[in-house]
Amino acid sequence: MTARILNGATIRDAIYAELQAEIESLRAAGVRPGLAAVLIGDDAGSHIYVKNKIAACEKLGLHSERISPPPTITTEELLRQVDQLNRRDDIDGILVQLPLPPHVDSKKILEAVDPAKDVDGFHPENLGRLVSNRPGMVACTPAGCMEILRRSAIEVAGANAVVVGRSDIVGKPMALLLMHANATVTICHSKTKSLAEVVHRGDIVVAAIGRAGMLTADYIRPGATVIDVGMNQVTDPGVAGRLFASHPERLARFREKGSALVGDVHPGVADVAGALTPVPGGVGLLTIAMLMVNTVKAARLRRGASAGHTPAAAGAARR
Ligand code: NDP
Repeated sequence: MTARILNGATIRDAIYAELQAEIESLRAAGVRPGLAAVLIGDDAGSHIYVKNKIAACEKLGLHSERISPPPTITTEELLRQVDQLNRRDDIDGILVQLPLPPHVDSKKILEAVDPAKDVDGFHPENLGRLVSNRPGMVACTPAGCMEILRRSAIEVAGANAVVVGRSDIVGKPMALLLMHANATVTICHSKTKSLAEVVHRGDIVVAAIGRAGMLTADYIRPGATVIDVGMNQVTDPGVAGRLFASHPERLARFREKGSALVGDVHPGVADVAGALTPVPGGVGLLTIAMLMVNTVKAARLRRGASAGHTPAAAGAARR
């Protein structure tokens, strides 16, 4: 069996086409949604993520700002900056790119973001809303995974779903969304016993671990749908050689570049899964798309400028 590849770009483009209509009607009502991205420090990954998020805003005609305080900023000073953004009427969404410098109290900062502008869905109020299945801002990566499933017509209700990873930003909200969509959900983590056996029960498997190629083909029930959230930079030629043993073209690209972006799912899973998201080109694209969806949604809800159309990505974003 060769898995159906769930192409993130196709799904993202469909979401953007719907979102564009919503942005147009907001513009007609005199509203241009605005996103502020707070980026501190020189973490290479964070810079790329913020650059891509701002590029998406520009593509869709949203206002965006990058706010880069010095890495020496204190928690108190950053709280004041967040407060200013909370008060600004032209800013609908605030994202604080993690990780923050270690001396800054990240939890305090995330709690200071106005829940109505919390487009990352990390505020405890939005997390609480998700737990009790009330409308609110949902974390972008799990919301994006749900969009992939929904738009690929993968049956979630009644399915056995296994989520590997229990982080606040991916694993836990993912499990809650799957449960609210009537899947029977199992959450796995580093202390799970007989992991391969548990994962093998999954009709849907979501990998959010942070370990390159960890879920190999023997973890996966034939025909299962596999959503690979992992984003791991591999630079070790030995690791690349093992991962890409049956993919000479990927190995050649690795040798050319000296690195490769690899998910948590081993490439060999494509031989057993029924459907699979690629890395790159899968979940990562949807994470940014859902940030755009959340920013437009925040603008609509905050400014009461709904023009009476169907919002994009209505299934997962839970208004
Ligand atoms: P965290 O490190 O916060 O969480 C990882 C989870 O995986 C933990 O719950 C951990 O268990 C579990 N885990 C670690 N090792 C094992 C193991 N050997 N067996 C079973 N479970 C294990 O990571 P995140 O949730 O933030 O991210 C996960 C991955 O997703 C990363 O690769 C990250 O880069 C990627 N990511 C991708 C995004 C995208 O847009 N595509 C967005 C966000 C993240 P325990 O709790 O016991 O420690």
